[in-house]
Amino acid sequence: MRQTHLFTKTLKNVSADETAVNAQLLLRGGFVYKNSAGIYTYLPLGLRVINNISNVIREEMNALGATEVLMPALVENEYLQKTGRLEVDVGFDVAGKGESKAKYVLGWTHEEIITDIVLKYVQSYKDLPFGVYQIQTKFRNEKRAKSGLLRGREFIMKDLYSFHASEKDLFEYYEKVKHAYSRVFERCGLTSYYTLADGGDFTISNTHEFQVIADAGEDTIFYCEKCKTAENQEVVEQEKEKCEECGGEIQKASSIEVGNIFPLGTKYSEKFGLAYKDQNDQQNTPYMGSYGIGVGRLMATIVEVSNDDKGIIWNKQIAPFQAHIVALGDKTIHQRAEKLYNELQQKGVDALFDDTDLSPGEKLASADLIGIPTRIVVSQKTQEQNGYGVKMRTEQSEKIMSQDQLCKELGI
Ligand code: ATP
Ligand code: MG
Repeated sequence: MRQTHLFTKTLKNVSADETAVNAQLLLRGGFVYKNSAGIYTYLPLGLRVINNISNVIREEMNALGATEVLMPALVENEYLQKTGRLEVDVGFDVAGKGESKAKYVLGWTHEEIITDIVLKYVQSYKDLPFGVYQIQTKFRNEKRAKSGLLRGREFIMKDLYSFHASEKDLFEYYEKVKHAYSRVFERCGLTSYYTLADGGDFTISNTHEFQVIADAGEDTIFYCEKCKTAENQEVVEQEKEKCEECGGEIQKASSIEVGNIFPLGTKYSEKFGLAYKDQNDQQNTPYMGSYGIGVGRLMATIVEVSNDDKGIIWNKQIAPFQAHIVALGDKTIHQRAEKLYNELQQKGVDALFDDTDLSPGEKLASADLIGIPTRIVVSQKTQEQNGYGVKMRTEQSEKIMSQDQLCKELGI
């Protein structure tokens, strides 16, 4: 993409009340625009990141055998009335005009909706087990929308629901989802801790969260560096020094919950009258699991843990582009950069081409802020050396590379 086609620009400053690092960097880099407190637009660069994260999640969910759907965001009150969740104050009521006044809430979770859908399709043990997921916008009237993209009032979530004939089958699936989640976070460049947390009313045992250590986190965990497990402070009755799993040392830290998994049991199935006939023609109630990942929160978490004083540092899986070609010089330099841009495009490298007329200093600062993994400078100096100035965002110094070396570096 040509940078002149982007209608956004990098910004030097953001408003002083924006205290969260993720919000500051994402706003300055032109990844997001803040419309209201806790409500953001994903601009072209930000949407690319969201799509890359979503695709990593999709690959891991599909590998589990789960299939993707898209459920409505507008949820009729009667769904939540059935489970007593209409009163939960996190929901936004939709006061429709005229006849349909206040009949809906904006979906803040979808257990009720999916259970009602599944009712039509599950009759026999042969119809179980299965998993179904969506990547969709959720709405929650969060009280403290001050952590930037970490806590939005409107945010993108991946929610997976699973249905099983037995509790044993549910817990076997739960283990598989645990591994799939760990892979998602690892591919996003994050170290996640599998954290024991409070179950709440609608689960049959404790739940598990995936926590990433970060100062900006609202949670506190006691974690073991060795086996990457943890306990949320909310369930810790007595602090321990050694990990019960592996004997590793227990440490305390602030952390961000990027995902969580819940063994729901039969509570939702019962409320909706979901049942199946087993091999002996007996009616039984399916067991359910529910599993969430905050897609926008994941993007914000990556920014919180992967940045320096110049800006964001994206890893290759998630970066909005693989390479950032920066032309520093006159028309012939721009032409040379454009030729490289076209060649890389043809070889399937998704590159951002800085064809703007900003000063060299502004261009380099903006490239660092945006944080694309490989920066390729085309200038008089690099031309004299018959190459390009290549700098990895994770490194300090630039190397002169021939086109062959550059292609090798980019894996083409
Ligand atoms: P939290 O305790 O942080 O409010 P939650 O327990 O309400 O999270 P879930 O309802 O299980 O979270 O949602 C699944 C995932 O969605 C969470 O693990 C988190 O990553 C993400 N998430 C939840 N609330 C928000 C929000 N307001 N903004 C952005 N992401 C969110
Ligand atoms: Mg919440």
